[in-house]
Amino acid sequence: MRPPCAFGLPGVLNSKHPMSVGVYIQVPFCQTKCTYCNFHTGVVSRDRYEPYAEAVCREIIESTESAAPAVDTVYVGGGTPSLLDPAALARILDTLRRTYPGEPSEITLEADPETITPQKAAAWYSFGFDRISLGAQSFEDRELRAAGRMHRREDICRAVDLLRAAGFRNISMDLIAGLPHQTRESWEASVSQLLRVFPEHVSIYMLEIDEGSRLGRELLEGGTRYSAEAIPSDDAMAEFYESACARLAAAGYEHYEISNWGLPGRASRHNLKYWRREPYFGFGAGAHSFDGVTRWANVHDQARYVALIERGTSVREQMETIQPLQAFHEEFFLGLRQLEGIDFEQIARDYQPHLGNLILTVRDRIDNLRSCGFIQLEGERLRIAPDHITVSNEVLVQLLG
Ligand code: SF4
Repeated sequence: MRPPCAFGLPGVLNSKHPMSVGVYIQVPFCQTKCTYCNFHTGVVSRDRYEPYAEAVCREIIESTESAAPAVDTVYVGGGTPSLLDPAALARILDTLRRTYPGEPSEITLEADPETITPQKAAAWYSFGFDRISLGAQSFEDRELRAAGRMHRREDICRAVDLLRAAGFRNISMDLIAGLPHQTRESWEASVSQLLRVFPEHVSIYMLEIDEGSRLGRELLEGGTRYSAEAIPSDDAMAEFYESACARLAAAGYEHYEISNWGLPGRASRHNLKYWRREPYFGFGAGAHSFDGVTRWANVHDQARYVALIERGTSVREQMETIQPLQAFHEEFFLGLRQLEGIDFEQIARDYQPHLGNLILTVRDRIDNLRSCGFIQLEGERLRIAPDHITVSNEVLVQLLG
């Protein structure tokens, strides 16, 4: 459902329009650094985990001034949050429950397969985590090794068994298309194994190649470290993605966002908030927040984050008030990632007072792009044509100019 509209812009959190929010908790620690990783995460001494968890609890407590909105989804991501002592995760969830009203309908924990033990899985379930996002990435050991992952194929299968035994009935699994050494055969084998495991939710990401990761830098410099020379071509990656689309659909998964599939009713409620521009609060180093009007990010460096919290100083930086034009663009760039598309007429009504001329221009472009088969308009719903979803950025550039 689209959030209520205030001040002409949708999704605004204010006292007139109380609504629920998602909460994201960032845990920026990993055991090793994967070669393709471009996140602000690090390998640090375990001694840092406890003060960090304390700092997150303090940030949560100090984040509310008056009437706090209800929290309806929680996502603990990273990094590798499953590295934390379960007691630390329990304290973070308890703090959240004591500080914000509402009982979340979805509480997700990201976990790496090799970090899961029966004790941890049982503890997570008892605290109220009801969804595990498992970073499988591939079922082929050669690919996992080259990518610097700690787990192997058998760890993934063991982890799923442990999670099922602990009671989890909502497991998401990630695969990456484009890992070094991946071939058509090895990709199909990974997808086959994933379908045997049959998680409730699947995310498939294309390998990102940029200077933010060791692998990306190596490839851009033409080197061969990290098996950079064995990265599949763009065409091969697109083929892997398309093959997975067909196989997941045949297995009963609904493709609801460019990179995400769920069995019926299993779309990620938390992640849907990002694509629908609904409010979310992020806690922890580098976490992002959006209240419907303003976006902000916390400082990235985890040591600095902890030091600032301990000093009682704000960790927020990069505060940005979203102006109508940017908000309008976000409606398309984020919303059209969803296969169901967006309610274009509602958006046109919301932004008409600010952007009347632009809306007329966009209407003309929609007509053109429809006639070329790039987008579809059914009733009020505008969406990228499913067979053009992989080139959605190019379509959006043509739509928004
Ligand atoms: S586990 Fe995730 S966050 Fe950590 S290094 Fe690997 S890709 Fe990056």
